[in-house]
Amino acid sequence: MNKCLFCMIRDGEIPSDKVYEDEHVIAFRDIDPQAPVHVLIVPKEHYADITECPNETAGYMLDAARRLAVENGLTEKGFRLVMNTGEEGGQSVKHLHMHLLGGRQMTWPAG
Ligand code: AMP
Repeated sequence: MNKCLFCMIRDGEIPSDKVYEDEHVIAFRDIDPQAPVHVLIVPKEHYADITECPNETAGYMLDAARRLAVENGLTEKGFRLVMNTGEEGGQSVKHLHMHLLGGRQMTWPAG
């Protein structure tokens, strides 16, 4: 079976600008940043999207997101966490991931 893009990044087969790693997740800078801080938080285990993953995994992702928000100085002014899911949700990479966006004023609706 072919590995997906984020599995290849996880395994170091494709380079990434990695900013965090623990037993459960990795995080790296988005290649096409939509904000001054744009980090992807990715579970090491492959799940297609949030509908497939155990609650425990979602918790590990949130823990990493909070840590990265603090490390990047985003907690005072705020930040956004996004999980695009499926076709209408605008998901392009079918390996569960969370976007951490910060460092600029966000707008709503997200578009
Ligand atoms: P989504 O559209 O929610 O599935 O998000 C996928 C994200 O992955 C997009 O924001 C892309 O810019 C990002 N992306 C695609 N390829 C890479 C890569 N090689 N390294 C880092 N980010 C990537």
